[in-house]
Amino acid sequence: MEEALLAVAREAIGFMPDDEGLALHTAAASSNARLGPLLEIGTYCGKSAVYLGAAARAAGTVLYTVDHHRGSEENQAGWEHHDRRLVDPRTGRMDTLPCFRRTIEDAGLEDVVVGVIGPSTAIAANWATPLGFLFIDGGHGADVAHADYDGWVRHLAPGGTLAIHDVFPDPADGGRPPYELYRRAVDDDAFDEVSVTGSLRVLRRA
Ligand code: SAH
Ligand code: MG
Repeated sequence: MEEALLAVAREAIGFMPDDEGLALHTAAASSNARLGPLLEIGTYCGKSAVYLGAAARAAGTVLYTVDHHRGSEENQAGWEHHDRRLVDPRTGRMDTLPCFRRTIEDAGLEDVVVGVIGPSTAIAANWATPLGFLFIDGGHGADVAHADYDGWVRHLAPGGTLAIHDVFPDPADGGRPPYELYRRAVDDDAFDEVSVTGSLRVLRRA
């Protein structure tokens, strides 16, 4: 990955360790862009979108990145992953959209990374474009995570790549829902495992 983009990704606020970001980049770069564009659920401040956007640019496609920009449960005030810098002083609510726009501007990826702003399930319900690559990193509550799986995996083209973040086989390491999605993909939907890097799982649809 290009040094300048890597520097922006590493600087950006977010929840993507560099080794997992690079694995995400490699997975996206190795996916078949002719199947369709890339789509990410869970933009936050655009950190993972830079790793993915770099791959999209190289492949001549685009990344759609979906988020309502109001934060997940664990990002709200009083929770473990709250960041006060991301609160809108006018309303006291989380708003990661300005931060996302700065990250993508700094990366020079505004022509490649397309923010889609709103609730994931509402967007999925009316989506029609087959995807070549899907990255699930949105809300980690059971209902929200399984709704993302139900809403979006059906849009992944045959031969497409599915990446899931925060997959922890041992419950002591983190919440269950992303792991449950990973199991659904492998056990119920016949995905093949391509790579494992930290909590990132990369799978391919038969
Ligand atoms: N990929 C990011 C981290 C994403 S954090 C990174 O690299 O740092 C999870 C994000 O999912 C939050 O920004 C939150 O606002 C978003 N989110 C959670 N539930 C959502 C939903 N139902 N619809 C849209 N976005 C959602
Ligand atoms: Mg994550």
